[in-house]
Amino acid sequence: MDALVLVEHDGGAADEVSLQALSLAAAYADGAVNAVVIGAGADEPAGLGGVATAFVAELDGEAFAPDAWAAALCGLIGRLAPGVVIAAGSDRGNDVMARVAARLDLPLAANCTAAQPTGDGASVTRVRWGGSLLEEASLVGSPALLTTAPHAFAEAPRGGGAAIERFTPALEDGDLLVSVREHVDAGGGGVSLADAAVVVSGGRGVGSAEAFAVVEELAGLLGAAVGCSRAVTMAGWRPHSDQVGQTGTKIAPDLYIPCGISGATQHMAGCKGAKHLLAINGDAAAPIFASADYAVIGDLHEVLPAISEAIRKARQS
Ligand code: FAD
Repeated sequence: MDALVLVEHDGGAADEVSLQALSLAAAYADGAVNAVVIGAGADEPAGLGGVATAFVAELDGEAFAPDAWAAALCGLIGRLAPGVVIAAGSDRGNDVMARVAARLDLPLAANCTAAQPTGDGASVTRVRWGGSLLEEASLVGSPALLTTAPHAFAEAPRGGGAAIERFTPALEDGDLLVSVREHVDAGGGGVSLADAAVVVSGGRGVGSAEAFAVVEELAGLLGAAVGCSRAVTMAGWRPHSDQVGQTGTKIAPDLYIPCGISGATQHMAGCKGAKHLLAINGDAAAPIFASADYAVIGDLHEVLPAISEAIRKARQS
């Protein structure tokens, strides 16, 4: 059985989450793993570990157009008859695969953390309810349509050697109606929240937009990205692009430092992937401490400047 993987990329270089989808494909399929690559920079796909053939879609316009991408995938599925089609469980991956499922009238299992083939489809474990439960489910249909929960699988090694085959998907007028028209820079220009090795987040306990200066100061010293809770974005203190959680960005840093954040399940859904968690909160009974590897119980307006000062002193000596 062959696998077909939708590979998201940055100027042709496969994204980490797509390498994770490729890794599931290699474990799942006993035949070839092929990839489909679409969008700006797709001409020169790179780093496709273990891929036999990369099918590069030639589309009018290079912007993300979910129906056009779904049409491209469906055309290839018809031609190659893979046993499984996998994409990363990213916003784009889930968007495109939902449209593929609707076009083929097949079920889709989104955000899988494990998947094995069965006689008539797949047996999967997948993340539900913002990460608060894992569901074991049977998916009946062929091909099995899956997306992978971010960071649930190791990345396939980046490698070359894939044969490149270009194809022009057959599109209908409506397929380009929905497409990205403009990218607006979120500003900041610093470390990307989703990929940062260290994230320092502030919650309602920070108190105001201006008071985030202490969070930014520590983040700057650590080369970290600044995150926040939804209470903060709702108050208008930080943009939604900084929000960590179920309805924000999912992060998987080596170190996560939530400050003045209570630890609601919807927030924890976004930082489950953190390798170490250092919580700073004034309330010893705050739920965040149940998930913490290290805890500082105290006023963040005293604790954060003290940590920043200690880092500066340590670097001077
Ligand atoms: P609070 O819960 O008010 O906690 C503030 C904390 O700061 C308290 O623990 C307090 O002890 C501490 N504190 C106060 N002052 C200080 C001080 N000076 N020093 C140290 N500590 C101090 N939330 C998210 O974060 N991300 C999401 O993606 C998200 N999605 C949601 C989706 C849905 C459908 C729903 C219903 C909710 C969602 N929420 C999300 C909201 C979530 O339920 C919580 O309301 C939110 O996370 C609370 O934010 P907080 O921890 O900053 O505020």
